[in-house]
Amino acid sequence: MTGPDDRGRFGAYGGRYAPETLMPALDELEREFTAAWNDRAFRSELGELLTTYVGRPTPVFHAKRLSEQLGFDLWLKREDLAHTGAHKINNTMGQALLAKRMGKPRVIAETGAGQHGVATATACALVGRECAVYMGEKDIERQALNVDRMRLLGAEVIPVDAGAGTLKDAVSEAMRDWVGSVEHTHYIIGSVVGPHPFPWMVREFQRVIGDEMHEQLHGAAEPDVVVACVGGGSNSIGAFATYVDDDVELVGVEAGGYGLDTGKHGASLIEGTPGVIHGSFTYLLQDDEGQVLEAHSISAGLDYPGVGPEHAAFRDAGIVRYESVTDEEAVEAVHLLSRTEGIIPALESAHAIAWVVREAASLVGKNVALVLSGRGDKDVTQIAALDD
Ligand SMILES: *Cc1c(COP(=O)(O)O)cnc(C)c1O
Repeated sequence: MTGPDDRGRFGAYGGRYAPETLMPALDELEREFTAAWNDRAFRSELGELLTTYVGRPTPVFHAKRLSEQLGFDLWLKREDLAHTGAHKINNTMGQALLAKRMGKPRVIAETGAGQHGVATATACALVGRECAVYMGEKDIERQALNVDRMRLLGAEVIPVDAGAGTLKDAVSEAMRDWVGSVEHTHYIIGSVVGPHPFPWMVREFQRVIGDEMHEQLHGAAEPDVVVACVGGGSNSIGAFATYVDDDVELVGVEAGGYGLDTGKHGASLIEGTPGVIHGSFTYLLQDDEGQVLEAHSISAGLDYPGVGPEHAAFRDAGIVRYESVTDEEAVEAVHLLSRTEGIIPALESAHAIAWVVREAASLVGKNVALVLSGRGDKDVTQIAALDD
């Protein structure tokens, strides 16, 4: 399972459902990425930046106090310590360098909570690309800090007032921009979603997570279980890619929101059905007429109605086990990790923590490696408000 095949498919999933005008650009991107990924100079330039700028390798931390409480050994892959506070920079750094290599002076992106927007603006500042980030008006209000960060980094934040003024609408606007600007503009998608080659390319940029873990945990701490949260699915795929052929249980944790039975959640693999979203055939939350439903999660990064197509293939083949935890369980997990280990996790990452806590009895005696995808500073105000 190292796909995709030459049509950009992971089994039945993936592909390229995009306007005709974008097909040449997607072909070009596939060609350019393939060449770059096989080019030692490109790899070494990216590797150098990941080391000296992003702060890689991020450490693996043995959470001893929590391990003692839970009855198994918990190892945290500290993506929260990467520059800008999450794994997203691994991908934006790779794609920004690729934009430079392709001679495209302008980059666009879309963002919901602003984390991908900040990671994109950061990489663009570093490699000298003009940067425009589409963001729903409602999200601009809710995420003022990240909007200010993007502007400080020199990016233009373009408000989208169509639809509900959230991520789904920002994606449509970014696509529209790209159709008209593709000659000189690269579109940096923030997860393993979208038309081929994005799901494959983003996985390759994120597999550094799993490759480092493999080296760091080699020997006595060889994991029995690898667990990560799943929004679009990039931090989890980044870890799973390394372990997929090994005898390791892989667990992806989706957003259970208010509970699966309420319909207000982001569990597209558990509760969704196959269909086309944002250029790719995959599982998504949709009604009987095929209308995409609004996802819900307390964590903005998991609040997405689709999921990467490779996860869809993993789900059907039983290669990865997909579970969900509720908003409430995730918030409790933020408190638990903060107090027990002095690490405030992102609400997204807290979903993975919450799952290992709930499953503790079945994990006793095991080595559990968990991707701590990001730090929780961005969520502190939201969580404090809940406690009032
Ligand atoms: C964006 C984000 C996620 C979800 O995205 P994936 O593509 O599923 O990894 C998870 N954690 C953090 C901290 C994020 O910022």
